[in-house]
Amino acid sequence: MPIGGRKVPPAVVEKERVTVASSISGREVELPAMWNRMFEPRVLTDYGPDGFAAISCLPGGESLEWCFGCGKCVPACPVDMVGDYGPRKIHRKVQTGTDLLADPDLWLCTTCGNCLRVCPKEVDMMAVMPAVREAALSTGGVPAELQDVFEKTFRYGNAFGHNQRRRAQWAETAGVPVRSLAREPGPVDVLFLVEDYWSFHPRGQDAARAFARVAAALGIDWAVLGPEEKTLGDSQRLAGERGLFDALAEDVTAVLAKYVFSRVVTADPHAFNALVNQYPRRGHNFHALHYTQLLAPLVGQLQWARELDLKVTFHDPCFLGRHNGEYDAPRALIEAVPGLQLVEMDRCRQNGYCCGGGGGGMWLDSTTRDHTSERLSERRVREAAQTGADVLAVCCPYEVPRFTDAAKATGHDDLRVCDIIELVDEAMRGGPTSG
Ligand code: SF4
Ligand code: SF4
Repeated sequence: MPIGGRKVPPAVVEKERVTVASSISGREVELPAMWNRMFEPRVLTDYGPDGFAAISCLPGGESLEWCFGCGKCVPACPVDMVGDYGPRKIHRKVQTGTDLLADPDLWLCTTCGNCLRVCPKEVDMMAVMPAVREAALSTGGVPAELQDVFEKTFRYGNAFGHNQRRRAQWAETAGVPVRSLAREPGPVDVLFLVEDYWSFHPRGQDAARAFARVAAALGIDWAVLGPEEKTLGDSQRLAGERGLFDALAEDVTAVLAKYVFSRVVTADPHAFNALVNQYPRRGHNFHALHYTQLLAPLVGQLQWARELDLKVTFHDPCFLGRHNGEYDAPRALIEAVPGLQLVEMDRCRQNGYCCGGGGGGMWLDSTTRDHTSERLSERRVREAAQTGADVLAVCCPYEVPRFTDAAKATGHDDLRVCDIIELVDEAMRGGPTSG
């Protein structure tokens, strides 16, 4: 694959003389000069079926073969904008002999879903890529940085490899009581799955504390699992570790079965996706909400302490928006905060650009760096800066660290990156929650 986003057209072949025989008269006709200059001929008999056969026999891998080459997916693919990618191109490479199991292309897809949105043949990379990655996993062909996350998640129940006893440490400085069901069991309305980045990443913890204060101000009856919480591991599933996801699902549902609650709410669109789309297939049905869906109907009850006077642009998380159809709840929260002016990026809602963190991309930056001209998060930060916004607001725990790094790397240090809940909390409290 070319590096640096440079497209490589097929080699031009100069023919000294080209003639074709008429199928009617049998006479040979010399083609005019415009036909004399032609692309390298494509010989269909050079292509064997083995590449597709190896993929379509994998559960989930069938649809790659359905591609009929219309090319609609390529301009929709965020990776193609910084490299040379897309389902059509992968289809072509497999057709012409590339072993996808051993090719770097296997790890570049973020499962963002934008190709499936436009594909007339429903080639589903959200099924194809995890299936092929799972097969690559069994042969040991997994990038080391991803393997490390798999092992940490397996051993500790979180992608950071931290001790589970530290799960709820963030709550000690929230300024409001946070009920942990492990300590205080009993019925509760909202069981809040904090997930890994709000539990352990310092900037995620800022958002978790902001959520705790807002939930307390709204009088929500809520609680966390504390040290009993494990990640749902949906990103690990999409990165190829379906077995790990299934094992985690057994652990998570066993813990949830101990408690009485009405709704499961999470800050993480990936966990939300697992609850809505994966758990029901395994017989577990919950009333699941993303935190923005919990709070959006309640904004009329919030008491504001100040106006923020900021221009804000919003990045739609792929797994809240495109995968699960929620575009309005985050915007309702932003628009409720006094003083905030929402300005949209050109690519937003259904066509939102991917941050690069989905499908295991969160842990593959070193691998993808060698095959793209810049990180997807850097590209997105440039788009955010073009709007003239002061703040890039997000509502996925991966995105604050990703975009903060990208803002520094692209020289947009003045673009503040924060979760929407931090802006809500800030306007309610009258002071910034974090740097
Ligand atoms: S949009 Fe679908 S059918 Fe068209 S080239 Fe892409 S994968 Fe193939
Ligand atoms: S899911 Fe997203 S990143 Fe993967 S091939 Fe499709 S458009 Fe590209």
